[in-house]
Amino acid sequence: MNKTFRSVLSIVLSVLLVLCALPVSFASEAPAAHTDTCTCGEEPIIYVAALGSATLYQNAGTEDEKVIFRPETSAYVKLVFNLLGPLANLILTKNYDYFADKLISAANEIFGPLANAEDGSSTPDVTTKEELPTDPKHGLDYSYYFGYDFRADPVLTASKLNDYIDAVLELTGHTQVRVRASSMGGVVMMSYLREYSSDKVKSVIFQNCPIDGTAVAGDLFCGNFELNTTAVYRYAATALPSLLSPFLLKIVMGLVDTLYYTGILGFIIDKLNVVVENCIDKVYDELLIPIFKANCGIWAFVPDEYYEDAKAFMLGDDANAALVEKIDYYHYEVQGKSSEILNGLIENNIPVMIVSATNIQRTPLVETWHNDSDGTVDTKYSSVGATVANLWETLGDGYVQAIDDGHNHISPDNRIDASTCALPDHTWFINDMVHCTTHDGHDALYRWFFESDNNETPVNVFSNPAYPQFLQNNIQEQTLTPQQ
Ligand SMILES: [Zn+2]
Repeated sequence: MNKTFRSVLSIVLSVLLVLCALPVSFASEAPAAHTDTCTCGEEPIIYVAALGSATLYQNAGTEDEKVIFRPETSAYVKLVFNLLGPLANLILTKNYDYFADKLISAANEIFGPLANAEDGSSTPDVTTKEELPTDPKHGLDYSYYFGYDFRADPVLTASKLNDYIDAVLELTGHTQVRVRASSMGGVVMMSYLREYSSDKVKSVIFQNCPIDGTAVAGDLFCGNFELNTTAVYRYAATALPSLLSPFLLKIVMGLVDTLYYTGILGFIIDKLNVVVENCIDKVYDELLIPIFKANCGIWAFVPDEYYEDAKAFMLGDDANAALVEKIDYYHYEVQGKSSEILNGLIENNIPVMIVSATNIQRTPLVETWHNDSDGTVDTKYSSVGATVANLWETLGDGYVQAIDDGHNHISPDNRIDASTCALPDHTWFINDMVHCTTHDGHDALYRWFFESDNNETPVNVFSNPAYPQFLQNNIQEQTLTPQQ
């Protein structure tokens, strides 16, 4: 062996040694080693689920194992029970500090363990039990379920989604997956698309996703709390039809109407607002800020127009640098590039369906209660940029479409202009749909979309007269029909 050959060999060996020392990162780059290639023609569907998709455990696997999310009903019952005494005391003595202290300690017992470490990572005692899939069953009638810790940095969760996608591909013998992301699942999917190539994605649906955030998170992280009587009334009127049977709805709305029109609802809310005004600072300082300030998942919901103010309000002057690095990355590199990321899919000929729901009163807790929404996510944010009138208002007589792209993008009821969306031709609006509340009509829409994803040109809002841009949700008939 000559000297040159020996030194080359030693270099090759040390390179191999280094590569072997990095088994995880290197292995994930390698193409999946399919034993069989599936020729069924139906790419597996992965459902990237919403907030609360994974159960969170404290001290899992020990004698003290406890479910901390979602808390069990008994925990809420105990909370209400514990507050009855302090509430009676409040009415009698108007001692707000005492009531706030009791509220904070009772709520902390349930929600306190959800607080992340200062840097935005989970505390070691809180974990999920999510596992990679093992069942190779796939097709249009079956979805793999991807759940995750909602408190985690979505970019970290995206790396877990990448592993999950690889596992599904390996298991099913396909080279691509179809994705249906629901609500917070869209935040995870957008992070995935920002961090990884879209090569493994056949097609993608975003259902009611806070891609550009949600005002309830922005307002609450800026301290803009507001209980408004009109909003509470409209919340009942617009959200309850999806949640109650027609019979029960009649009874409950009869009661709500009576309370509203007699002024009793307003009276109760005025009283509640006095309590809120007197307790809110303490509740933020001792309950909400400690629990939520390092929750990267909730930070991802804060829209750009609130973001820097929210950081000042929630984190103050001595913000944890590692936390800020994580939340800034999501905010500026994922949410801030939403239009770029989505247009990248279209450029790669990947079918995209963005489903934005509308005409439901948003959570009646915040200053922006007049925003049109699906109850949880504002229509302008889930549609990634539509121009939307306030709830129960219109864009006005003589409104002219903001961007003339040769199509009409104004809703028949003149409330929405989709021409300003990131993907005006790939965004569907469903009137009277409550956040992520679906039925057979939605299943049929999604099935049509996935069945069409082999078309040479991706389908859009002009492809099928049954599914134009603006759809009407018919809850009783369980259908979606073109909005008239
Ligand atoms: Zn197959």
